[in-house]
Amino acid sequence: TSLSGKGKVLLATVKGDVHDIGKNIVGVVLQCNGYEVVDLGVMVPAERILEAAIREKVDVIGVSGLITPSLDQMVHVAKEMERLGFELPLLIGGATTSKAHTAIKIESHYHGPAVHVLDASRAVGVVGKLLDDAARPAFMEEVRADYERTRQRRAAGRDRTQLLPIEEARARAFRTDWSSASPPVPAKPGVHSFEVEVAELRPFIDWTPFFQAWEMRGSYPDILDDALAGEPARALMADAQAILDRIEREGILRPRARVGLFAANAVGDDIEVYPDGDRNGRATTIFGLRQQFAKDGRENLALADFVAPKDSGVADWAGAFAVTAGSVASLVQAYEATNDDYSAILAKSVTDRLAEALAEHTHLRVRRDLWGYAPKESLGNKELISETYRGIRPAPGYPACPDHTEKRTLFSLLDVENAVGMHLTESCAMDPPSSVSGWYLAHPSASYFGMGRLGRDQVLDYSARKGMPVEEIERWLLPNLGYDPEDGA
Ligand code: SAH
Repeated sequence: TSLSGKGKVLLATVKGDVHDIGKNIVGVVLQCNGYEVVDLGVMVPAERILEAAIREKVDVIGVSGLITPSLDQMVHVAKEMERLGFELPLLIGGATTSKAHTAIKIESHYHGPAVHVLDASRAVGVVGKLLDDAARPAFMEEVRADYERTRQRRAAGRDRTQLLPIEEARARAFRTDWSSASPPVPAKPGVHSFEVEVAELRPFIDWTPFFQAWEMRGSYPDILDDALAGEPARALMADAQAILDRIEREGILRPRARVGLFAANAVGDDIEVYPDGDRNGRATTIFGLRQQFAKDGRENLALADFVAPKDSGVADWAGAFAVTAGSVASLVQAYEATNDDYSAILAKSVTDRLAEALAEHTHLRVRRDLWGYAPKESLGNKELISETYRGIRPAPGYPACPDHTEKRTLFSLLDVENAVGMHLTESCAMDPPSSVSGWYLAHPSASYFGMGRLGRDQVLDYSARKGMPVEEIERWLLPNLGYDPEDGA
């Protein structure tokens, strides 16, 4: 237990995951409330978490993760805690986590307290109750009853969600008249790299997610004038601008982008990518999934629907991109060395913003110049943020293409590691953390959608097409499975 006597909390981002802004904010908030925090950083394997918990005699373990594969790591931590006879409370947090996952997948493996913590502001209350002998029993009873209800609701919901057989879902694909279509030919096909100045990116920043990262709700710029949040929001913004000035002045970041535009055609739910315009051979295949939930009358979408099918004879194109703001680690370390945790987190969160700004900037360049189908487009920052332009850039791991492993395809297609120095962790998180990657589709009707739940029939078919064992696919797609993979049936 800590010197202050209030309690000691271990925090870690799990193995394979690199994001820690939310976790670091939790750490700062806990410290401000008198708790001692042992922060193990990112990509921390279960063994190291549990060793440190014992060595440091902590009172609570908190694990965090941003991407879906991290859910599995958290289950692993819970199982290890059970196996090794831990009694400590386990807190689950981060963007990919949910009460449902904690209730269904974590609590069932660990007899000690396992609690999902939505955000930093709630972490203090939860830790306070868990470490208060008088408050804990009632709190845990409440949590356990709540999670039991969550499990029952989920079980009932799963039975209710009606999934179409995959063949039927395919019959309800988005259709368009390809015979009259003439997809735009890229002005500059092939692969391109470029560097962009921080100064050039700043006007492209979308600030709303920045305030969300700091757990301030409201959209920019209105939030600056908000009666309650306005003052802290303006202060935060001023500090962010000062750090951006410093990053720019000292040349701390070197944002770089890699883009490729390729001849491509859809084959079923997949997109074949060809080495060049002759369309002989195959550079790679982008494997895709299709919505399978019953939607009255509306289409069951797959991204491949927005690319001309091979058998239409129409020559279509698709693209890929990988961009990084670069690593802000040197600046973060400088701040941490002076115990300025606030500025360290701020540096990371503005660097994240620069990565997204670079994705927007690069997409604009593609539409106007490299692909060139919208040479006269001139949208303001607001329109760019609401993505009113033609074309989309769906990102593997996001709702329309939830399989993170497609990033491996993307990275090898563009030779991302060598060209821009980004790499994938074993969970397919991108490192440096302030990075974005995705596909480009230019069809005027192309839109983002959620994949929803998938049937076993599609998962088996996808596994066969992709040549990846079913169990492995099921692990990567866990949150999308419309069935229990352990059911066998
Ligand atoms: N302006 C925002 C942009 C990020 S969110 C920011 O600065 O944070 C929007 C991006 O997320 C899209 O451009 C796309 O790359 C991805 N995305 C959003 N919804 C998606 C979906 N349903 N499927 C795949 N990718 C999606």
